[in-house]
Formats: sequence, C-alpha cells, structure tokens
Amino acid sequence: MQFSDFGLDPRLMSTVEHLGFSAPTEIQQHAIPAAMKGHDLIASSKTGSGKTLAFLLPAMQRLSKNRALSKRDPRVVILTPTRELAKQVFTQLRMFTSGSQFKAVLILGGENFNDQVKVLEKDPHFIVATPGRLADHLKQGHFYLNGLELLILDEADRMLDLGFADELSLINKAADHRKRQTLLFSATLDHAQVNEFALALLNKPKRIAIDAGHTEHKDIKKRFYLCDHLDHKQQLLEHFLKEENIQQLIIFTATRSDTERLSQVLNELGHDTVALSGELNQSQRNQIMESFSKGQHKILVTTDLASRGLDLVNVSHVINFDMPKHTEEFVHRIGRTGRAGSSGDAISFVGPKDWLSLKNVEGFLQQKITFDIVDGLKAKFKGLKPKKPKVANKAKPSTKKNVAAKAKPRKIVKKSFVGTDAGEMPVLRKKVGLQEREDNEET
Ligand code: ADP
Ligand code: MG
Repeated sequence: MQFSDFGLDPRLMSTVEHLGFSAPTEIQQHAIPAAMKGHDLIASSKTGSGKTLAFLLPAMQRLSKNRALSKRDPRVVILTPTRELAKQVFTQLRMFTSGSQFKAVLILGGENFNDQVKVLEKDPHFIVATPGRLADHLKQGHFYLNGLELLILDEADRMLDLGFADELSLINKAADHRKRQTLLFSATLDHAQVNEFALALLNKPKRIAIDAGHTEHKDIKKRFYLCDHLDHKQQLLEHFLKEENIQQLIIFTATRSDTERLSQVLNELGHDTVALSGELNQSQRNQIMESFSKGQHKILVTTDLASRGLDLVNVSHVINFDMPKHTEEFVHRIGRTGRAGSSGDAISFVGPKDWLSLKNVEGFLQQKITFDIVDGLKAKFKGLKPKKPKVANKAKPSTKKNVAAKAKPRKIVKKSFVGTDAGEMPVLRKKVGLQEREDNEET
C-alpha cells in the first residue's frame, strides 16, 4: 500500500512526499482509511510505529474536504498527557498546516495564560493541548467547542487513567453533538483500559489493534539485571556507560528526587547529563528537551514524565534504574528507543524494591523474564519468594481473621500499581522535603 492510495488532498500528499516515507506503516494503513470514513477509533500499535501521522492525516483531510460547522470554534482538538509530547505533536502538525489556510495553536500548562487567551481569540482551527489548561480556558469562555469535529486523545490510556476525568468530561460535554468524531490512540490500549468513561466519549468505535500491548517489540533488545542496593545499581550503570556503544541514553528513575540525585552523581563522574522532571519550571523543561533532542547531552535522567510518546531518534539505550510503578509504563519507557524500524537496547535494574513491579511486568508481557549477569557485579539478591497465602487450618472453623489473612496477598497481586513507590532514596527525599507525588501528571 502507498500513501497515494488514501485519496488524500494533493496539498497534503505533497507534504507527505516531502517527509520521504516509502510506505504507510501498518497502523497508518488501517487507521487512516477508517478515520477518513468518519468512524470513532480505539487504535493501538507498538511504540514508534507512526501513530501521530495516523491521526494527523485524517484530521487534515477532514478539514480540507468538509465545511466547518462554525466559523469561530476549533475544528480539531488533540490532547496529550504531557507538555513535551504536546509540543512534539504540534511540531508535526505544523508541517501540514504551515502554508495552508489552517491555524494551529499549542495550549500548555505552565505558560502565560493571557497570551493564550489572545491566541484563542484568533479562532484557530487546531488546538494541541494538555487537558488541564485547555479546560481552564473553556470554563472561562475563551473558546467554545460547538463546532468541534475531531477530538483526538494521544496516549489515551494514560489520559483516561490519570485523574483527567473532570477535564475530559468538560471538553466532552462542550462538544457533545452528532457530528463529532473521537479517536483514541496508544501502544497500550486493551479492553481493560477502555473503561466506561472512555466508551462514553465514543460513538460506536471501531477497534484497530495492530499488536497487543504485550506483543514483543522485535527492535528493542531487553536485558534485566538483579541488584542488591543503590550502590550496586550505580556500579552496574557505570559498567554499561563504559561498555555499551551508547549514542544517547534515557535513564528512568522512580521519583523526581531520584532523578535529581542521579543526574548530579553522573555529572560529577564526568558524564554529560541533564535531568527532566515535573519539579522544573516550563522554560527549564523546554531548554532541557531542546538541548537533549539536538544531541547536546548524552544522558537524560527522568521520571515517567518522559515515558510516553517522545520521539528522539538518537536514543540508542533506555535504562530502568528503577522499575516503573505502573506496569504498562515499562512498554512506553523502553519504547523511547527502537523507533521507526531502528534497533535499541533496554536495560532494567531489579532490586528488592523493584521485584513486585518486575513480576507485574512479567505478567503483562506474558513472558518469563530471565536475568543477565555482569562479571564481577553479580547480585546476591535472587528475587523474592512469593508470599505463601496463609492456609487456614482445616480443622478450625473459618473465622473472620482467617478469611482476612487469605484475602490479603491476592489483593496485592491484583493491584498492578504496586512497585518501587519510594525509589531508592527515602532518606534524601525526606531531607530535601520533595513531594512524593507521581511525576506523570500534567496541567
Ligand atoms: P508512535 O506514536 O507510534 O510511537 P510516532 O508517530 O512518534 O510513533 O512515529 C515514530 C517515528 O516514525 C517518527 O520519527 C515518524 O516521523 C516516523 N514515521 C511515521 N510514519 C512513518 C512511515 N510511514 N515510514 C517511516 N517512518 C515513519
Ligand atoms: Mg505517539
């Protein structure tokens, strides 16, 4: 199949040709025609498989072909869970809108509110946004959504999970008309994550699943190493920094303070490192991402703030210094490498605090995980034994206490969010008084 088979507007086609892609990816082959027919979509495919274009092209096409429902309201709203990802999507969108009659704007938390009011007054056709700030403008009547034709949620499972429900409901209600089309995209979007709320946003959605979230990503080589403690993790990290052929590296830690600490340690050891976390102000965040994406630094240490969507072509390696708290973030973190057909390496450190998370990842990937060993750095830690459920003595009648003892371990296993909650540096964190809140929430 070729891009020319979609029947896209010639101006759109010339931009596509300019991008130089030889053929549409599988998700593009399926999602573009379905979205162009007007279906609502729940679409999933692996990380780095071109989902952005799979929603941008039908959106551009719809605007080129259909008359606007309203002269003033935005026609397309694209929401992402983080500001960095919104920026990246906006940059791709601008390749199509610049030189066209369509105006696109970016509305992010952390940036000047009044400037955004002025921008919204100019009646843009496209808005790319993080949900919190967009909802604020909507509440204050700085724009209306009666004319909205397309609502797109990128990294949809994260958006639907993360306490964005109020903002999404508000946006949904403000654009509640028959002609609205809604597209959900992610690499991890199975039935469990498409909850009732998601279904309320959608109208007879078509499901397009190129791979299940757990399908092995053939371009990403995964390795796991057992670790005894923080120092051991650091020694292993130094080993890999020396021995691996790293172009650029993203290291994920459990918390903001771990990110700060580790980047400081790495810089002291002479490794050119920057740290990105929600702790920083927006201009610092912009500066860090800009310089890292230009290849000005070799290492980015971060939290799950950067696990989703970012397309940084020179990232050859990802290291999970701590395993992720939310199981599916594993797939997204390692998906920052091995993009668009290139190969990548993902190395994960697994200490006692990471064990439960490792087990959850193993369950999610439906794959037995084995461990590699670095000579001279073998861990004493061999994993935690699963807690045996206390079996009540058969002779005894079942008391309330017995029932509770039985139920407890099951409850923990079921909850897939248990993991390296506290990271490795509880003492330091207490000292500097940093917040423990998750670093993947955005305004
Ligand atoms: P995803 O959202 O699925 O993780 P992206 O949309 O970020 O993936 O795309 C990943 C990379 O693939 C980007 O650098 C993008 O430019 C590139 N890409 C998109 N479509 C194609 C294609 N048809 N052929 C080759 N590369 C593509
Ligand atoms: Mg994406």
